[in-house]
Amino acid sequence: MTASLADFRNETRTWLEDQLAGPFKALRGLNNHVDAIDERREWERALGRARLSCIGWPAEHGGRDASIAEQVVFAEEYARAHAPSRIGHIGIELAGPTIIAYGNDDQKARHLPGIANGDAIWCQGYSEPNAGSDLANVRTRARLEGDKWIVDGQKIWTSMGSISDWIFVVARSEEGSKGPKGLSFLLMRVDQPGVTVRPIRQMTGESEFAEVFFDGAVADARDLIGRPGDGWAVAMGLLGFERGISTLVQQMHFQTEMDQLIAAAKASGRGSDPLLRQRIADAWIGLSIMRFNALRMLSDAGNPQLDEAALTSKLYWSRWHRDLGDLAMDVLGIGGEIGGDDYRYEGLVHSHLMSRSDTIYAGSSQIQRNIIAERGLGLPREPRGDL
Ligand SMILES: Cc1cc2nc3c(=O)[nH]c(=O)nc-3n(C[C@H](O)[C@H](O)[C@H](O)COP(=O)(O)OP(=O)(O)OC[C@H]3O[C@@H](n4cnc5c(N)ncnc54)[C@H](O)[C@@H]3O)c2cc1C
Repeated sequence: MTASLADFRNETRTWLEDQLAGPFKALRGLNNHVDAIDERREWERALGRARLSCIGWPAEHGGRDASIAEQVVFAEEYARAHAPSRIGHIGIELAGPTIIAYGNDDQKARHLPGIANGDAIWCQGYSEPNAGSDLANVRTRARLEGDKWIVDGQKIWTSMGSISDWIFVVARSEEGSKGPKGLSFLLMRVDQPGVTVRPIRQMTGESEFAEVFFDGAVADARDLIGRPGDGWAVAMGLLGFERGISTLVQQMHFQTEMDQLIAAAKASGRGSDPLLRQRIADAWIGLSIMRFNALRMLSDAGNPQLDEAALTSKLYWSRWHRDLGDLAMDVLGIGGEIGGDDYRYEGLVHSHLMSRSDTIYAGSSQIQRNIIAERGLGLPREPRGDL
């Protein structure tokens, strides 16, 4: 902990405390992406004004050139303050870094300010009914007509599809092409006549994700990232961002749930059950291991790249978090099964239900193991049809 890191920690802690005790008090602890959307948009803008929205971005685009260590400190303080989960995270962590890495100057100038200042909320149009882990199987088509791409097809599991302004889409732009060849990476407005968003109701009772249908939808030709037919390289570069620092800092938020679980065990008296106590202690140890691992991976605090050991992070935290969900339900007992208004679930029960998906999104556990094997350990690649 260097002096400048300590200063940065103080700055963030003070800002977060002031805001969440003052104008944004009602947002404290909000961990879904469906409630109080207007206020959440204001929160994104406030973070932008304080230049705390995308601290890992270069300063010229509204960031702070923050090191990985600073990003971890920010995530820790954000979690400690019970700040609301970010509705801007797909723009900040995925769309923005991709535009910075692969976009041209015009694209940077038109898209990055809106993401950095919290005006534009983004979602990710990758998965389709027959293209999840096997993303190269996408069927959504795009054809160039004059200065517009015309897009037809369907995406699914689009998180925050219903509240987003923009979506990035991987579409097949070369007819007859297969696998990763002939795909293009397009930025599109969600609010347009050719796009229909149909929310999907989840077992938490909410609809955080949606199906998105494209029926003659339009993308400006200027909003193609990379070259036509070369979208696979861009799409994979983006997954590198999804599976990099953002997955490392995600675990910082689990301390809050751990604290809630311990408080629930104390309140219900179940904390005196020796078997539950042992599982709670195991969960606590697992959380400590995650934190120590995260710190270990910051072996060189100034290094912008993560250590290869970081490839194990998603596999570890997703399994730990799913187990914590099971433990939470055992701690809550049968009362935990009672739903709220309109079958909405909150608090630890909500976390338990959401944690079922942790081992699926952003690369399932099986895919994570493939990545560790191939990229981390250098084992032979799995044969993949057209690849
Ligand atoms: C909460 C949540 C939010 C999501 N948000 C988004 C979003 O915003 N945008 C978006 O585009 N997508 C989103 N997704 C979709 C997510 O990316 C996919 O669910 C994921 O990629 C898996 O794809 P699939 O569901 O089609 O399962 P499949 O790919 O069909 O996998 C089924 C099973 O087969 C296994 N499997 C598949 N291929 C292999 C292999 N090569 N080796 C070993 N095992 C394999 C998988 O691990 C899994 O167990 C979200 C999903 C969830 C659960």
